[in-house]
Amino acid sequence: MPDNRLPFNGARVLADLNALRAIGAYKSGVHKPTFSEAHMRSLEWLVQRLPEAGLVAEIDGIGNVVGTSTKSGPKLLAGSHLESQNYAGWLDGPLGVVYALEAARAINSDGGANGAVEVAAWCDEEGHFGSFLGSRSYVGGLTDADIDAARDRSSGRSMREALRDAGLAGRPRTWAEPRRHIGYLEAHIEQGRTLESGGLSIGVVTSIVGIWQYRISFEGEQNHAGTTRMDVRKDAGLALARFCVAIDDEFPKHCGPRTVWTTGRITLDPGAPSIIPGQAEMLFQIRDDDPGLIDRLEDLLRSMAAEVTAQGRCRVAVERIRTGAPAIMDAAFQQAIEAASLAFAGGRSIRMPSGAGHDAQILATIMPAGMLFVPSIGGISHHWSENTDDADIVTGAQVFVEACRRLLAE
Ligand SMILES: [Zn+2]
Repeated sequence: MPDNRLPFNGARVLADLNALRAIGAYKSGVHKPTFSEAHMRSLEWLVQRLPEAGLVAEIDGIGNVVGTSTKSGPKLLAGSHLESQNYAGWLDGPLGVVYALEAARAINSDGGANGAVEVAAWCDEEGHFGSFLGSRSYVGGLTDADIDAARDRSSGRSMREALRDAGLAGRPRTWAEPRRHIGYLEAHIEQGRTLESGGLSIGVVTSIVGIWQYRISFEGEQNHAGTTRMDVRKDAGLALARFCVAIDDEFPKHCGPRTVWTTGRITLDPGAPSIIPGQAEMLFQIRDDDPGLIDRLEDLLRSMAAEVTAQGRCRVAVERIRTGAPAIMDAAFQQAIEAASLAFAGGRSIRMPSGAGHDAQILATIMPAGMLFVPSIGGISHHWSENTDDADIVTGAQVFVEACRRLLAE
């Protein structure tokens, strides 16, 4: 009997990743903003590879590629994204797409394997034009008005114009077909140091953290920086700086093991060297996968603000401007990845939350979802020097393909 099965091929995974790195290369990384020529060529590259896995697709009206199979049996959706941050790394996104492609090649032509893997590249995961526009479009969470309003955050170019220039204007968008898929699996580089520092090969993602964002405003009294004595000042900037330090003193007593918080922007008004700031504002973010814990931290933030206000120099107001919803990864998917890493990575895996956002959190709103991480050298990402050992890339791919097989066999 002829055997036309394509077995797992680690060298092919590395060759594909390097082929994608050569498109839009920058130093050892890539520069592929959404809808750039290099991004579009990468999508074309994927469309041309898909038939090797028995899949067909076109680039759709939002820049997604979703390859579909005619093989009978259950379908598993797998993928990631092909655009990059500006002047950034070669693996953030392409790793997950190439793993999905390899799984599809290994499984779809195997008559003995149950079902098929379908491969997706979601457009603009990196947020050049918005927030998860491609995967949100696929799950039905993006309106035409959203697209009308979207603009490139660096150039200001409208998304409609970018779609037209890329030749995608007027093409239909691909929607998720209800009950077509048993779920969605995505591989990604960790972009942190947990795996590397633990000597581990595979991260089994338990959840993708939610992001809560706050605007914290300070109101004091604007006055002359030379004539106003120190003891009578109502310096909103100083109150803000003290508040930042107070957060760092208080939060560790109440946070969870993986909670992170960041003051990402500070503005002082009027912001001149000879004027005591009358107003100050900070944008503050907390990430965790436990909404209950965030509630308690938010209460703490508000009581700290009330305390400063009660001291009488500055009024502090805390306003929540973004409410995060953590995405919980499916238990069966976590088990499948763990079992696969026992088979192909010596069980060197750990269950961990993802502190970064991924398309899997969007897909998780309509189907069971799972994620697998591979180590990042030095934890570096969103920089052209981002890298992963070839051996870790191949091990991760093998675990990914096996996890797909197990999920389809269930
Ligand atoms: Zn990514």
